[in-house]
Amino acid sequence: MDPEKQPFRVCIIGAGLSGLVCGMRLSKKGAKVTIVEELTYPGGLLASTRTGRENLELIPHHLRKTDRALLSLIKEVGLDDKVEWYDSLWYGKASHKKVGYFGDGFSVLINRLIQDITDNGGNIHYSTTVCEISAGPDSYTTSCVLTDSGKLDIESDYVIFTGSCRSFVSISHGLPIPLNIKDQLMNITYKASVSLMMVMKTKHTDVYIRQMKDPVPIKRIVNHTNCFGTRGYGGNVVYLVGEVNISDPLWIASDEEIMAAYVAALRKTYPSIKKSNIKSWRITKVRYATSEKYPDQDLTNPLEGLYVCSESLSKFGVTDTPENRMDPVVSLANTICRKISEKETKPS
Ligand SMILES: Cc1cc2nc3c(=O)[nH]c(=O)nc-3n(C[C@H](O)[C@H](O)[C@H](O)COP(=O)(O)OP(=O)(O)OC[C@H]3O[C@@H](n4cnc5c(N)ncnc54)[C@H](O)[C@@H]3O)c2cc1C
Repeated sequence: MDPEKQPFRVCIIGAGLSGLVCGMRLSKKGAKVTIVEELTYPGGLLASTRTGRENLELIPHHLRKTDRALLSLIKEVGLDDKVEWYDSLWYGKASHKKVGYFGDGFSVLINRLIQDITDNGGNIHYSTTVCEISAGPDSYTTSCVLTDSGKLDIESDYVIFTGSCRSFVSISHGLPIPLNIKDQLMNITYKASVSLMMVMKTKHTDVYIRQMKDPVPIKRIVNHTNCFGTRGYGGNVVYLVGEVNISDPLWIASDEEIMAAYVAALRKTYPSIKKSNIKSWRITKVRYATSEKYPDQDLTNPLEGLYVCSESLSKFGVTDTPENRMDPVVSLANTICRKISEKETKPS
């Protein structure tokens, strides 16, 4: 790198997997990286909480052998020896398909990416919500509000937004993005997710994942410990993963009401489940959890220097498999970082 050249500045909105992969890659390339995250913790959908003596995801996650971009990232950051593979316990022939999990949960991946970013001089600001992106003649300004109602403006040459496409449109309203692109981004609709994670004294079934047609809104039951073992969780971990529209009363229900509704629904399938079998539980709500459609046009770069690295646009990563999974998300982050790095290495 030319020692005379000022480092290029990148502001990344969101400290989920996409934001952290971009942060790791670009800080390695010499960028001055600033990440802003509205929550108090990193990981986004992949965030973890302490459960017993272990870190455990708030929403259930596993790896597949076909997750090429993700597995290659894991190898690159030196964590491949931490991935353990298990029989999936899916029905029939698929039961020996392998699913992967980290010895210490996915938090090892999140923490490693954060470590790499900070080692390369990057910064992460938590409890910092971006309310507007504006453009000057040579740079962008990302305006944020802090939870103590303070303000923070970040000047940068590039901005990468990793949240939902709809949120992107609302914070970029002052930018000269063509109307047809804004419309297409606004047309991407999302389902919200409401998940219950329980630690139970005993297990109620031998399967790992059971997809549900009924009872709604529970979409699947994930018996995490059936596949990955009880480790130091202090019991059997079961997730009930629900998908809702925000007009559904469940979206605004209290945690206790959701818990009661989910357990009642679960009893229809497993009548022997008792509340006294539940040692602890936690509800996680995510407004923009799964995108319902993927646009045909590449909307990832609506303006020079501005990128949308959002799961719903993951079709435009290199794997070309639009899906609500980590692998295409990592592919898209790789593609965007490659484009930015190429711009920076081109002679001006
Ligand atoms: C129920 C469920 C189960 C899943 N299971 C699997 C699985 O088993 N395997 C798999 O491969 N994938 C799975 N996935 C998909 C996986 O979770 C996602 O692909 C991945 O975590 C997406 O990461 P991301 O960084 O793109 O988005 P997110 O994790 O959503 O991160 C975006 C971040 O941006 C922040 N943000 C948004 N707007 C702002 C703003 N204005 N200001 C500041 N910060 C902002 C958010 O707080 C968030 O932290 C699952 C998803 C769901 C919903």
